[in-house]
Amino acid sequence: MVQIRNIEDLGALEGKRVLIRADLNVPMKDGIVTDDTRIRSVAPTILALMDKGAQVIIMSHFGRPKGKIVPEMSLEQLAQPLSDVIKKAVVFIDNCIGNVIKETLDAMESDAVLLLENLRFHAGEASNDADFAQALADNADFYVNEAFSCAHRAHASTEGIAHLLPSAAGLSLEKELAALESALGDPRRPLCAVVGGAKVSSKLDVLTNLVEKVDHLIIGGGMANTFLAAQGVDVGASLCEHDLADTARAILAKAAAQNCTIHLPTDLVVAKEFKAGADCRTIGLDEVTSDEMILDVGPATVADLAEMLTSCKTLIWNGPMGAFEIEPFDAATVALAKAAGQLTEQGSLVSVAGGGDTVAALNHAGVAGQFTHISTAGGAFLEWMEGKELPGVKILEK
Ligand code: ADP
Ligand code: MG
Repeated sequence: MVQIRNIEDLGALEGKRVLIRADLNVPMKDGIVTDDTRIRSVAPTILALMDKGAQVIIMSHFGRPKGKIVPEMSLEQLAQPLSDVIKKAVVFIDNCIGNVIKETLDAMESDAVLLLENLRFHAGEASNDADFAQALADNADFYVNEAFSCAHRAHASTEGIAHLLPSAAGLSLEKELAALESALGDPRRPLCAVVGGAKVSSKLDVLTNLVEKVDHLIIGGGMANTFLAAQGVDVGASLCEHDLADTARAILAKAAAQNCTIHLPTDLVVAKEFKAGADCRTIGLDEVTSDEMILDVGPATVADLAEMLTSCKTLIWNGPMGAFEIEPFDAATVALAKAAGQLTEQGSLVSVAGGGDTVAALNHAGVAGQFTHISTAGGAFLEWMEGKELPGVKILEK
């Protein structure tokens, strides 16, 4: 396993300024943080660095302002929630670069942390602009990356800056990599992957790479519709990317050549509307009418998959099996999650899941605690699953 630098490797930090890249891009509703998992995950690193006598500066993105100032995406709204979690004063400053940062730091109490404005208000963040990275680095002595969920992107705050300052992984980034490595570095086989959810076009690449690595590939959620359609199934009004039919067929052919068994739904739950209490029916593949949407895989499919899982040793999961936010379309996701959770508790399965909605679905099923490891990262988790190098991690290697 490759070794990455951690905060111990930074040496003495007394009186030094440490800039932490956090992921404070938390879900919010009406100005309230609805899930503070990401804030809580960075707290131990902030407190550990403060314990070592460092002055801590926090930077993050929020939403996708695309290089422009978008007031609704200001990180100011995260200052109080952050303060509530770390129980320290948080000073917010409405930029992330410039002399004003140093001036503010000079004037601050030693027991307060400084929160910078949204990195993505500057175009140089996403383009990994060298001058922008230097401007970020100018305000600190050390850099700590605590944003695993952003590590698949070579941005100024995740990659560029690590060339300019002595740098290390934060505690939760370190923990996340260790957990992924121990579960999946040399996975016990058979290895099964579940890929579902809605981001069909962005996940097809993942599937292409995964069929080389896994023994079983379960395709569920909106993903499955594209594959069913590519095989001539009429999917009616379902979420489906018909123009990707060729790619889907190529993935199926590649899987056959690589001895990877693909599992597509054999029965379906359909409805005419996506809302709670909508009339729905459980049907075979050839019964979808033109005004119906496939919103979940059927119970016969789930029973087969649960049975198949009993013969597997490792499971990686990204993307729900159906539109789980609304009952009863959560049924397949919940049933499969429970089966995986139980096998994990019995010790016959190592199970690792990642993705924003996937984690929400596993929480909803009440089995998140039974899984071997849950990653809050979506894209980075997927790229790690594919065996791709993550630029934000690579740069921290010893
Ligand atoms: P993650 O965030 O875990 O990476 P995605 O964002 O790719 O997962 O997918 C989650 C979304 O997929 C959910 O909002 C869910 O409602 C949707 N979804 C799953 N199955 C279907 C389906 N059959 N039709 C429409 N949407 C679906
Ligand atoms: Mg999602």
